[in-house]
Amino acid sequence: TVRTRIAPSPTGDPHVGTAYIALFNLCFARQHGGQFILRIEDTDRVRSTPESEQMILDSLRWLGLEWDEGPDIGGPHGPYRQSERGDIYAQYAQQLLDAGHAFKCYRTSEELDELREARKAAGLHLALKPADLVLDSQEQSRREQEGWPYVVRMNVPAEGVCVVNDMLRGTIEVEWAQVDAQILLKSDGMPTYHLANVVDDHLMAITHVLRGEEWINSAPKHQLLYEYFGWEMPQLCHMPLLRNPDKSKLSKRKNPTSINYYRRMGFLPQAVTNYLGRMGWSMPDEREKFSLQEMMAEFYVQRVSLGGPVFDLEKLTWLNGVYIREDLDDDALLCALREWAFNEAYIKQILPQVRPRVETLSQVMPLAGHFFSGLPALTKASFDSVKLEEEELVKLLQFLVWRFEGVSAWHKEALLSEVKILAEYFDLKMKAFLAPVFIAITGSTSSTSVMDAMAILGSDVTRARLRSAIE
Ligand code: ATP
Ligand code: GLU
Repeated sequence: TVRTRIAPSPTGDPHVGTAYIALFNLCFARQHGGQFILRIEDTDRVRSTPESEQMILDSLRWLGLEWDEGPDIGGPHGPYRQSERGDIYAQYAQQLLDAGHAFKCYRTSEELDELREARKAAGLHLALKPADLVLDSQEQSRREQEGWPYVVRMNVPAEGVCVVNDMLRGTIEVEWAQVDAQILLKSDGMPTYHLANVVDDHLMAITHVLRGEEWINSAPKHQLLYEYFGWEMPQLCHMPLLRNPDKSKLSKRKNPTSINYYRRMGFLPQAVTNYLGRMGWSMPDEREKFSLQEMMAEFYVQRVSLGGPVFDLEKLTWLNGVYIREDLDDDALLCALREWAFNEAYIKQILPQVRPRVETLSQVMPLAGHFFSGLPALTKASFDSVKLEEEELVKLLQFLVWRFEGVSAWHKEALLSEVKILAEYFDLKMKAFLAPVFIAITGSTSSTSVMDAMAILGSDVTRARLRSAIE
C-alpha cells in the first residue's frame, strides 16, 4: 500500500508551505487508497517547542488535512515524535559504524574551518570529504582515549556522479565531489535530520516522499544511506516551492506565511485548502473551485507543474468570497463566525479590556471593533497626532516588526520588553513610542490598551497591521 507523510519541524509558526506539502501527500495517498502519516521532526532540541507542534497539528486539522497515524493518535509504527526515538537512531548509527559506512570524527570546529579554507584556496568544492577529515591513527586514538567530543559522519564517494530519480523531474545528477561527509549523529548523541528521516521513513514503511524542492540536495545522501542499510528507497517527488508575487521564495518578510494569520483574518479553511490545491496543480477541467474530496478523487501527481506557483493573497481573498457567497447559507455563515471570533473563549479575553471603558453595552462594539477586523484603513493623515517625523515613524514601526518576528512565546510581558528596548533606542518615553503603534493596531487614537490588544490579536495580525501601516 501507498504510504506518504508530512514531517514538519516544530520550530515556529505553522507554515502555509507545510499545509501545501501535506495536502499533496494526503491527496496522493488517498488517490491510491493508501495512508497518510504525520511525524514530528523535533531533533533540534533548542528550536523545537511543544507550542509550535500543537499549532501545526491544530492548523492542519483546521484545514481538514487529517492523518491516519501521528503523535496525537498513535499508530502501529510509533512513536511519531523523533525526540522519543533516540535509541533507534543510536542503534542504526552503530550499525553503519560497524559496517564501515560511517566514522567517528573528532575534528574541532577550528580545524574544520581551516580545512574549508584550504579547500577554498585549492579551488575545490567546499564539501568536506572523509579523506579530509581523518586524523592520523595516533592522534585519533589520543583524542578517543581522552574522551574528546565527536560526531558520527557518513562515508561518501570522493568522485563520480550520483543519479537520483524524481517522480516529476526524471533523473537528477549530482557530482559526489559536491556532497560532504554528512554528520549523522551530533556530539550530544542526537541524530541529524538526514539519519532520522531515512530511518523513520523506512521503519514507518513510507513508499512515496513528496517534499519541497529545497531538499533535492539531500537526496544523494539519503539514497546512499538506503544503500548502506540495504533498504528500498521510497520514490521521491520534489514539489516546487511557493513564491511571492515577485517570484521570490514565499517568505514572511513579504507575505504572511503562518496559517494562524489566515485563520485570524477570517479565511475559511475550505477556501485555503482549495487555493493550496491550485499551487502548481489544476483539475482536469481547470476549474478554480473544488473541494478536498474532489481533489483527492481527481489527483494525479504528473499534473504538478514545476514553474514556481505564486501564492497570491488577492486571489485567495477572491476565492474566499466565492465560498462565502456560494457555499454558506445564513446558518453556515453564523457557524463560521462563531468558530472564527464570536465564541466565548475569544470574547472573554476582550471583556476585561472594555469593562473599564464603557457606560452602556452599545459602546462595546465601536470600542472593540479592532478585535474583529482585519487591517485598518489608514492614511498618512491618520498619524497626524503623532509628533514624529515621517521617516522616524516608519523606522519605528519597521523596527518593531523585526523585533516581533523574533518573539517565540507571544505574551504581553515579552512584547513589553521588546517595546522597552526600542523605546530606549529611539530615546522616547513609553507613551510617545506607543502612540503610532496604537494607531497602527487599533486604527484610531482612542481605544483599548494597545499592549493587551497586540497580545490578544497574536503575532501574525499584529505584525501585518504594523506592516500595512507603513506600506
Ligand atoms: P521564511 O522564509 O518565511 O522564514 P522558512 O524557509 O524559514 O520561511 P521554515 O520555518 O524553515 O520557513 O519552514 C517551515 C516549513 O515550511 C518547512 O517544512 C519548509 O519546507 C516549508 N516552507 C518554507 N518556505 C516554503 C515555500 N516557499 N514553499 C513551500 N514550503 C515552504
Ligand atoms: N523536517 C523536514 C521539514 O521541516 C522534512 C523534510 C522532508 O520531508 O524530508 O521540512
